[in-house]
Amino acid sequence: MFDDQCVFCQIAQNKISAQKIMENEDLFAINDISPKTPIHILIIPKTHIPSINDLKTDNQTLIGKLFTAAREISKQKKLSEGYRLVINTGPHAGQTVHHLHLHLLGGQQMESMV
Ligand code: 5GP
Ligand code: ZN
Repeated sequence: MFDDQCVFCQIAQNKISAQKIMENEDLFAINDISPKTPIHILIIPKTHIPSINDLKTDNQTLIGKLFTAAREISKQKKLSEGYRLVINTGPHAGQTVHHLHLHLLGGQQMESMV
């Protein structure tokens, strides 16, 4: 379930302290250490899944829970004007932490990327 070398696994196990915005048995959310927008939150499953490419069919419910958490946090943060959800996968997308996470970005007008 955990990888000892992984920073998000360390945070999941409270071996590295971080203020958790949300936590339940499946996932937690923290502020990004290097925010790209005024609100930049990472929603992270507790179990170590390196990327979308490593998802198993068993993980489908978990992925749904990440998006449900994003919706709840967007309400908590009053992001009624909108927000962006991003999952970087692999080197071309700039994935730097190899533990699946959903970025929730908001609090400012953003240019469309696609
Ligand atoms: P990626 O580029 O893999 O999609 O995103 C990784 C994100 O994790 C980056 O935005 C980076 O700033 C953030 N990050 C890396 N290490 C830590 C950490 O120790 N704590 C927190 N809160 N964020 C981190
Ligand atoms: Zn991990």
